[in-house]
Amino acid sequence: MQSVLDWLLTFWRESAPVMQKMYLVFVCGLAIEYFFRAEKNQPLRDIGFNLVYAFFYVIFNKLLFELLFVVHNPVVNYLGGPLMILHFGDAWWSQLLHVLLFLFIFDFFYYWFHRLQHESRYLWQQHELHHSERSLNVTTGGRHHWMEDSMRIFVILIPMSFLIRLDAEKVGLIWATFMLWGYFIHLNIRLDMKFLTPVFGGPQYHRIHHSREGKHWNKNYAAFFPIYDIVFGSYYRPGKGEYPKTGLLGKGENMNYLSTALFSPFVNWYRMLKRGFKSNNKSTKGIK
Ligand SMILES: [Zn+2]
Ligand SMILES: [Zn+2]
Repeated sequence: MQSVLDWLLTFWRESAPVMQKMYLVFVCGLAIEYFFRAEKNQPLRDIGFNLVYAFFYVIFNKLLFELLFVVHNPVVNYLGGPLMILHFGDAWWSQLLHVLLFLFIFDFFYYWFHRLQHESRYLWQQHELHHSERSLNVTTGGRHHWMEDSMRIFVILIPMSFLIRLDAEKVGLIWATFMLWGYFIHLNIRLDMKFLTPVFGGPQYHRIHHSREGKHWNKNYAAFFPIYDIVFGSYYRPGKGEYPKTGLLGKGENMNYLSTALFSPFVNWYRMLKRGFKSNNKSTKGIK
C-alpha cells in the first residue's frame, strides 16, 4: 500500500510542473489572442472544456509514454542505429544549425505520420478529437488524444534515433520546442508571415489544415517546415486575410465530453472490428 502511495506521489510530483508550464502557456496565449484575435466571440465553453481535458491528457499521456518509452533504446540498438553521428561546433550559430537540422528531420517523420492519420480511417479515429475543435485557439494545442505522443515514439523518435545519434538532452530540447511550436501554430491570431509563409508554418498556415472548407482538406500537414507540403503536393498557401472557420462537418462537432475525448477511438475501433474491417481506407475528405 505504501509503495502505491509513494508511486502516486512521485507521479504527481513529476506531472505537476508539466501542467504548470502548460497552463502558463495557455494564459499567455489567451492574453495574446485577446489583442490580436483572428476569430471573434469564440465560445468560452469550448475553451473551458480544453482546459479541463488538458489535465487528464497530461496524466494519461505520461502514464502510457513512460510505459512504452522503455522500448526506445533496445529497438534502436536492435536495428543497429544510429547510422550517423553528426558533429557540430560550440558556436551559437552552429548549435542553432544543429537544432534546426534535428527539427527538420523530426518534421519529415511528423509530416508522414500526420498525413497517415488523415488518410487511414483507423488512425483518423485517434486524430479526430484534435480536428473537432470548432474554435481554434492556444488550448487546441493541448487537445490531442492522449495516445498520440506514445505513437510518436514509434513513428518519429525511433526512426530518428536510428538515423542520427540523439542524446537525452537533444530529445528533451526537440520535444520542448515541438510542444511550444504546437501551441504557437494554434493561436487564434492574425499573423501574416509574408515571405516566410512557405518557410515556417505559422498560425494561419495551420488554420488552413483545420479548415471546414473542402478546398483546404488534407493540406498543410507539416508542423515546422511547409517545404514538406510543397514537395509532397499538400501545400495550400493561405491568401491575404484568409482565416477560415475550423472544425468538422457532421458528427465530429460534438466531442466535448470527457468520456468521448478520452475513449472514443477505442469505441470506434471496436465498432470497426465488429464490422469486420469492412471500411475502406478513404481519405478524411469522406469523413468531414
Ligand atoms: Zn491533422
Ligand atoms: Zn492542429
